Amino acid sequence: MPLEIEIKLLPADAFDEQKTRDAVALSQPHIASDINSIQLIKRSIDARKKPIVYVLKLNVFLNGEVPESTVNQFEIKQNGFSQKVAIIGCGPAGIFAAFQLLERGIQPIIIERGKPVKERRRDLAALNKELLVNPESNYCFGEGGAGTYSDGKLYTRSKKRGSVERVLQTFVQYGANADILIDAHPHIGTNKLPHIIEKMRESILANGGEIHFDTKLTDFKIVDGAIESIVCNNDTEIPVSAVILATGHSARDIFHLLNDKKILVEAKPFALGVRIEHPQHIIDTIQYKQIKRDENLPPAAYSIVTQAEGCGVFSFCMCPGGIIAPAATDKNETVVNGWSPSKRNGAFANSGLVVTVEPKHWQAQYGMGPLSALAFQQSVEHTAYQSTGSIIAPAQRVEDFIQNKISSTLPECSYIPGIKSIELKHILPDFIIKAMRTGLTHFGKTMHGYRTSEAVLVGVESRTSSPVRIPRNKENLQHPEIKNLFPCGEGAGYAGGIVSAAIDGMVCANAV
Ligand SMILES: Cc1cc2nc3c(=O)[nH]c(=O)nc-3n(C[C@H](O)[C@H](O)[C@H](O)COP(=O)(O)OP(=O)(O)OC[C@H]3O[C@@H](n4cnc5c(N)ncnc54)[C@H](O)[C@@H]3O)c2cc1C
Repeated sequence: MPLEIEIKLLPADAFDEQKTRDAVALSQPHIASDINSIQLIKRSIDARKKPIVYVLKLNVFLNGEVPESTVNQFEIKQNGFSQKVAIIGCGPAGIFAAFQLLERGIQPIIIERGKPVKERRRDLAALNKELLVNPESNYCFGEGGAGTYSDGKLYTRSKKRGSVERVLQTFVQYGANADILIDAHPHIGTNKLPHIIEKMRESILANGGEIHFDTKLTDFKIVDGAIESIVCNNDTEIPVSAVILATGHSARDIFHLLNDKKILVEAKPFALGVRIEHPQHIIDTIQYKQIKRDENLPPAAYSIVTQAEGCGVFSFCMCPGGIIAPAATDKNETVVNGWSPSKRNGAFANSGLVVTVEPKHWQAQYGMGPLSALAFQQSVEHTAYQSTGSIIAPAQRVEDFIQNKISSTLPECSYIPGIKSIELKHILPDFIIKAMRTGLTHFGKTMHGYRTSEAVLVGVESRTSSPVRIPRNKENLQHPEIKNLFPCGEGAGYAGGIVSAAIDGMVCANAV
């Protein structure tokens, strides 16, 4: 058994193997001469006090002991499939469900409305430069789902440790840097993800799975409480034995389809607000208390939360060195999100700054029906769009927002389609404005420098999680009314991020 120890090293020494070894020997003099090898199992930064240190959790192997291989790959059975299962959606949930089905000897048939990664890139260029939203191919729809051009942060609060490791190891197997296995806050980066997703696709196809791009689920036929066939692109009927529905939080047509067919779906709370962007050096200075960041430290991140005006206000999907991205999935709506490249070397730090939205907030205007939260979300996105007449985003300096005045100028911003000075109180509901003002005032006190005129709020960050839940039975994960329908991933309300969606995909495949 290895000895598990924790050491602290200065940033300049933390990536040096010999210095790590010396530090271990110094901290454990009684075993120094018996050390055979050292395995890094977790790396984090402690910036709370000076000097800033890396905290390394290590397995120390003594007297000829060596680390065991920790590779946890899918073992795919190639000798004939016992059945076929349709997976709707090729996001992290759909992809990992496909791997798990292949391991169980079941053929996955993935149905994806969007395009393969390379073709999808052209639509993203048109979105950013010509401000044209393709409703089938955008930051949320297409191969790899919202995960492909996401930031690729892989931190999760999920307690299913084994499954988290399996997801991370699968990403490494298909090309992610092995650092994600040890970093406390693993990150892949938008420049790396598309290639990894392509490799995953190649593996699913090579092992007998099918993937149909440009193919949208538009209907299904139900006989005796089970889906007998799915209808794609309004004309092609495909018989199925079971359906894993992993269409993500932006597939509004799916929520409408289920509701129109009188299949149970429920409105659920979510969060809504803006993206806040600071020059990265301001966040570095706040977090590291250094005017110039040590070159061995990564661009600083943050995570903040408070209660304000009876709501939760919190940062969401913070992207150091990142870009604010247009994440709308349809015409006439403005939605922003964020990503960063693997090096996180951009000039700006952006983060969602969102407020919890509960039934009491939408009930008076939109009622309590299954799609009421969705209608509320949609109306805010639409108002944001109307405020500029395009996906150019409404924006306000932080200080002006707190002081309730329009920004006469705006700072430089990473959002490529562009921003326009508009008072956010004309776009966001009053309870969100009040909670954000109080929240920002509070954050300005706890993070000195965070409240600044150099920071800008860009609207609207509305797709934090699904405003609809597709219910499923706890014991078998089947929809309570349709026995071979398995609601899955973020869109159904069972995940919030890449890793948890991937885990839910595997869990649903096992349930099938
Ligand atoms: C810009 C951006 C940055 C992000 N950054 C991070 C991050 O750093 N870390 C993190 O954990 N998460 C991040 N996310 C969120 C993350 O991408 C999602 O949580 C995750 O992708 C959800 O996985 P999913 O498989 O459940 O759904 P999705 O990834 O949304 O996939 C659903 C798929 O279903 C397809 N689909 C929808 N309707 C149909 C239909 N009718 N027929 C056929 N196919 C359909 C869609 O085209 C899509 O490909 C980010 C998202 C965005 C947009």
